[in-house]
Amino acid sequence: MLGRHRAVLPDWLALYYDDPLEIVEGEGRRVRDAQGREYLDFFGGILTTMTAHALPEVAKAVTGQAGRLLHSSTLYLNRPMVELAERIAELSGIPDARVFFTTSGTEANDTALLLATTYRRSNQILAMRNSYHGRSFSTVSVTGNRGWSPTSLSPLQTLYVHGGVRHRGPYAHLDDEAFTAACVADLRDLLGHVRAPAALIAEPVQGVGGFTSPPDGLYAAFREVLAEQGVLWIADEVQTGWGRTGDHFWGWQAHDRNGPPDIVTFAKGIGNGMSVGGVIARAEIMNCLDANSISTFGGTQVTMAAALANLDHLLRNDLQGNARRVGGPLLERLRTACSALPGVREVRGRGLMIGIELVRPGTDLADPEAAAAVLEGAREEGLLIGKGGGHDTSALRIAPPLSLTAAEAEEGAAILERVLRRIAG
Ligand code: PMP
Repeated sequence: MLGRHRAVLPDWLALYYDDPLEIVEGEGRRVRDAQGREYLDFFGGILTTMTAHALPEVAKAVTGQAGRLLHSSTLYLNRPMVELAERIAELSGIPDARVFFTTSGTEANDTALLLATTYRRSNQILAMRNSYHGRSFSTVSVTGNRGWSPTSLSPLQTLYVHGGVRHRGPYAHLDDEAFTAACVADLRDLLGHVRAPAALIAEPVQGVGGFTSPPDGLYAAFREVLAEQGVLWIADEVQTGWGRTGDHFWGWQAHDRNGPPDIVTFAKGIGNGMSVGGVIARAEIMNCLDANSISTFGGTQVTMAAALANLDHLLRNDLQGNARRVGGPLLERLRTACSALPGVREVRGRGLMIGIELVRPGTDLADPEAAAAVLEGAREEGLLIGKGGGHDTSALRIAPPLSLTAAEAEEGAAILERVLRRIAG
């Protein structure tokens, strides 16, 4: 399969593992590969399997809808799309909210940038250093994480702001309050040199950047400064939405002094593997476009049916609460396991979104080789995790399906502890 893959697909579709994995089956928090080996899944395919693998309710919704009508168009009324939009509008907390569905997070952010630049009549965007928002022409242009940007030919004028990364950079040594004040001063300074930016786009917890987040309240403090010039805030909830962070349904709620953002984007897990993304904004912003539609496939019935069933399951079973109840102890368990390891700089995160930052022992230098080795070692012991980070891929990323049990958390933590002791000890 690897040879065939290489012969027809782009080289830049980078695969995990020296011996790449072909997953063919899944159930709950486990997947099986083509050779019949079973793995505990601590990454959910980068959070796309949000609740559980092969969730029966989602499978039933998909096959039921597929048997009735497989169709995609925004020209006709679409009941599952309206129903899901109603649910999401209410959950968003955005007043008079409108929802537009896309097929990916990239397209959702693309649309958010289109809305913000049109609404504000400005092509200036503020984005966070180390951020990731997608790889289309516009989203690449606001992605601060250079390691993930294939081009710098930007259609937007982007200015990068400090604050998304707590543990590195010029303000890392400051306490939370001073850190926030320094980042706000940096933002003020930037705003003094530009015309009138359209928006600030930010991930409440940076995903690809290695599950790192600013002190709670930073984006509320930013917002007060942005409001002076009418600059919008776009919260990219592609990784942080739907209860993943445990304490909050949306990641922005950790900053929520001033209420919901102007625009929220989402994708990944809400379809539990089906391609669903979207943008939420109040009507005034959403309706500023003079357009017929943007997407033919966004909101297709079968993906909407899957997302509705998945959302029902998530809410009915309080999986946000589960992320908190299982994720909190897992974070502490991993912190304890890593406390004496010289190759681990930090174990951080919230809910079921946990990052482990690896460094060359005795230094502050990122250690991408160690991160790659831990990934391989964990896989050999039957555990799938992810990696990410800043300019170096030196953070391990843990983001299991939100239904993870305490026993599975312990099983995965024990494997990680063994592997980390060997590689980072
Ligand atoms: N925003 C964030 C925060 C992401 O993590 C990603 C994907 N890693 C995207 C946007 C892009 O989403 P997609 O891959 O579905 O286009």
